[in-house]
Amino acid sequence: MTRVTRGRGVTEEVKHESEEEILDRSLLLLERDERQRELERVNLVIDGAASESGRSAVVGVQDTLEALNARAVRDLVLVDDLRVEGVECQACSYLAATSLRSCPVCGAWMEPSSNIVERAVEQACLSDANVDVVFGEARAQLLAKDGIGGLLRF
Ligand SMILES: [Zn+2]
Repeated sequence: MTRVTRGRGVTEEVKHESEEEILDRSLLLLERDERQRELERVNLVIDGAASESGRSAVVGVQDTLEALNARAVRDLVLVDDLRVEGVECQACSYLAATSLRSCPVCGAWMEPSSNIVERAVEQACLSDANVDVVFGEARAQLLAKDGIGGLLRF
């Protein structure tokens, strides 16, 4: 509290927040906005993937990888600690959550990977997609769909 004198000796009690308090509150608000935005995006992905009138999104490892292979993903969403075993084509970068030995696209050798999610994120970045790692309620909802999905470009 600080005493502020106004005019004819009228004194008011004014509560001052420290810079730290203001910063804490701003960060809290920002974080809440961020969680809300993530939840909206994940709902958009899940609804879009379920829509029967032309899919605008995909969910699940296999569908998301197929969309990434087709460079069709605009926004990739995933949970932070997702690990999926799979294979990656050494010639054309085709990704699959299988144990295929040869690429279904070009026939080249498929290299096994203990976590193709990392490769999926790299491919999303290379094709100029946004990548969103989600937390909180958005994470819980996405986990029910394998923990990964994406909005499609087309
Ligand atoms: Zn290939």
